[in-house]
Amino acid sequence: YETSRAPGRHFLQIPGPTNVPDRVLRAMDNPTMDHRGPDFGRLGLEILANLRRVFQTEGPVVIYPASGTGAWEAALTNTLSPGDAVLMCRTGWFASLWQEMAVRLQLVPQFIDTDWRRGADVDAIGAALAKDTAHRIKAVCVVHNETSTGCTSRIDEVRAAMDAARHPALLLVDTISSLASIDYRHDAWGVDVTVAGSQKGLMLPPGLSFNAVSAKALKAAESAKLPRSYWDWRPMLAANETGYFPYTPGTNLLYGLDAAVKMLLEEGLVNVFARHDRHAEATRRAVRAWGLEVQCADPRHYSSSLTAVRVPEGHSADRLRAVILEKYNMSLGNGLGQLKDRVFRIGHLGDLSDLQLIGTLGGIEMGLRAAGVPHRAGGAQAAIDYLAGNA
Ligand code: PLP
Repeated sequence: YETSRAPGRHFLQIPGPTNVPDRVLRAMDNPTMDHRGPDFGRLGLEILANLRRVFQTEGPVVIYPASGTGAWEAALTNTLSPGDAVLMCRTGWFASLWQEMAVRLQLVPQFIDTDWRRGADVDAIGAALAKDTAHRIKAVCVVHNETSTGCTSRIDEVRAAMDAARHPALLLVDTISSLASIDYRHDAWGVDVTVAGSQKGLMLPPGLSFNAVSAKALKAAESAKLPRSYWDWRPMLAANETGYFPYTPGTNLLYGLDAAVKMLLEEGLVNVFARHDRHAEATRRAVRAWGLEVQCADPRHYSSSLTAVRVPEGHSADRLRAVILEKYNMSLGNGLGQLKDRVFRIGHLGDLSDLQLIGTLGGIEMGLRAAGVPHRAGGAQAAIDYLAGNA
């Protein structure tokens, strides 16, 4: 497929899919192997073992040849029954889509809304659970990093609120835009199902998604009544025992996953998270220097994988993005739902260096000027000063 030709490399700075490192591309560029042959089992076992470290879990991780939406459905259908009440935090566009899916699956969501400028309201979760003395609520669903707003929910605090209410609901967490970018601990935070996707922090193309599963979730799966077949964990986990899959896996994406997970573990997860924190801070400094506003209004919920930036009243974020694409060959994320045309989103997750980030911010600064969006010069310089002073 030929893309429109512009000199130099395209800057893919949407908050996923992200830049795929050359080592991952090379790994996928190998002959597809027999997925029932002896080599495949070894590959499968190695990937499954390494993946657990990325989710920070001792338990199983299920890999689907599907986008993240499939893993959302798997999380719900494996653990819940028609008519079950679920507490869902509507922190943004993606949380709203998950909730719409829950309704279509005949679950009964109870909502906790936010103004899309912060993470999940932990006090409201605690209060709703404390009120539910009959334990009708079977699961609490939270999007860890809301990709539409750049707000990260505090899953450790959600867990603490659930424990304080002594409520037995399952905790289901979407980490599609946080896993392998922002510190996330499936076991330590007592998460029952973690949902993830390949195309963001894992530095792969789209096409794989994941469920990390707790012992409590496995138990719930034994009595859950929602219809499930393709998404059923049981045949998957049985086949995974020897590194195989119950149906044809995404073989070449798995070669890439093997390489990507090794790269993350070689860098060290702690260093990966610190790199993302540092790039996010540099980005926010640039935004403030421009005199623009970050969508996330609570510093405790700032996202380290993306920054959504509000454009001044009367200006169009989509026009700005179009100018930047046309003049500087860079893609930025658009505003979604109620934020359409009000924000642009800078992805700084995945495989990113200081120079790529400075190029990104330089392109935005030139774009602000070209599109006539009121701002002060010096955002890219503010980021340079921060990065150079915090090597
Ligand atoms: N959840 C979050 C937080 C996302 O960012 C996305 C996609 O960007 C999804 C869910 C949906 O995933 P997919 O588009 O891979 O189906």
